[in-house]
Amino acid sequence: MIAEILCVGTELLMGQVLNTNAQFLSRRLSALGVSQYHQTVVGDNAERLEEAYRTALSRSDVIITTGGLGPTVDDITKRVAAKVAGKPLVVRPEAEAMVRERFAQYHREMTLNNVSQAMFTEDTQLLLNPNGTAPGAIVPMGEGKVVIHLPGPPSEMRPMFVDQVEPWLRARSGCVLVSRYIRIFGMGESMVDDRLRDLELGGNPTLSPYCSTGEVMLRATASAGTAAKAEALLEPVVREVCTRLGDVVYAVEEDDTGSLARSAVEALKRRGWTVATCESLTGGLIASTMVEVPGASEVVRGGLVTYQSVAKTMLAGVPADMIEKYNVVSAEVAAAMATGVRERLDVDIAVSATGLAGPGGGTEEIPVGTVFLGIATRGGVRTIPLHLSGSRARIRELSMKHALDAVRRTVDKE
Ligand code: AMP
Ligand code: MG
Repeated sequence: MIAEILCVGTELLMGQVLNTNAQFLSRRLSALGVSQYHQTVVGDNAERLEEAYRTALSRSDVIITTGGLGPTVDDITKRVAAKVAGKPLVVRPEAEAMVRERFAQYHREMTLNNVSQAMFTEDTQLLLNPNGTAPGAIVPMGEGKVVIHLPGPPSEMRPMFVDQVEPWLRARSGCVLVSRYIRIFGMGESMVDDRLRDLELGGNPTLSPYCSTGEVMLRATASAGTAAKAEALLEPVVREVCTRLGDVVYAVEEDDTGSLARSAVEALKRRGWTVATCESLTGGLIASTMVEVPGASEVVRGGLVTYQSVAKTMLAGVPADMIEKYNVVSAEVAAAMATGVRERLDVDIAVSATGLAGPGGGTEEIPVGTVFLGIATRGGVRTIPLHLSGSRARIRELSMKHALDAVRRTVDKE
């Protein structure tokens, strides 16, 4: 089964509204094992919408529209679909009852044009809208193809899709998709691609890379008649990916909600270790990102934001003459920051970051993007020099990610 999303609304084309409906629907459809090869956004224009329907119907089985089900003149989604189907819209009494009920519930006056929300072709299957006035619809378009109309507002569209359209699709798609999300830090996208090229070319499972700042996520998805068969296809490929990439893989998960922070917090929990931070250029970002993980309080004891040099001395006990001698952006200072906070908060591991986020202030010896991390444990301290590039925000974010990765690795290894 091939599905295609067609979002209707001039506000989407103009960039006034972000097309979150397409993202929501395409995610849910891929999880159902429904193939999708195209997505379209079209404005509230009958001629272009008709063309979009005809094109979509020529290449897909199920066209899912969002938007344009309202009572106003620019709400043309149903009317144009009916024209393409070659059938008239008529007032469907069940639909009219649905609309009336909603108006009564909201204590609103129903005007004549609201009746248009109850107009569908005779053979349309109606979808109840518990969160708004416009019913949705599954409209037969001939040759076994359908157009499914959903309302524009995400609060109406999402529950209608999940509760009514997904069961309909599941009954027809006949296959199950199972995915694993492989998270990678410390290897660039092209290197990942280079090592996995032959696996990426295989049809089932599919391997798709997604990149974000400093990270690559690979989604491996297998489709089969049952979940167990899909798992069996997936398992050897995931194992092969992990073998080829080595320890840059920091998580393999069943959903895409993982993060370096979560992996670091989980590693700390497994080990029963506490952690503290001493942050300069990241200004609390390392601590704050760990604290986003539910249950972080078990392992995150606290942290210092020592932004000016004097704070490094006053709070973390970094000797002023050391800062003078080596520069505040140096391995020595990073080590002293980590050791200082580790001792003061009596934690098992402490991480520090000092560096130059820019854009100004760089010199030949210490250019913008120079960062030193310190990792102190009860066994000693080591430092990690980083040479980062990009904007101030990117340098700070990458410093945070490197710090979390260093924590995770240290906790797992020592
Ligand atoms: P409509 O049903 O076309 O009148 O759309 C009603 C409202 O739903 C719009 O003003 C948007 O705020 C929202 N909306 C419509 N389409 C989308 C979409 N594709 N993604 C997110 N929001 C949308
Ligand atoms: Mg609209």
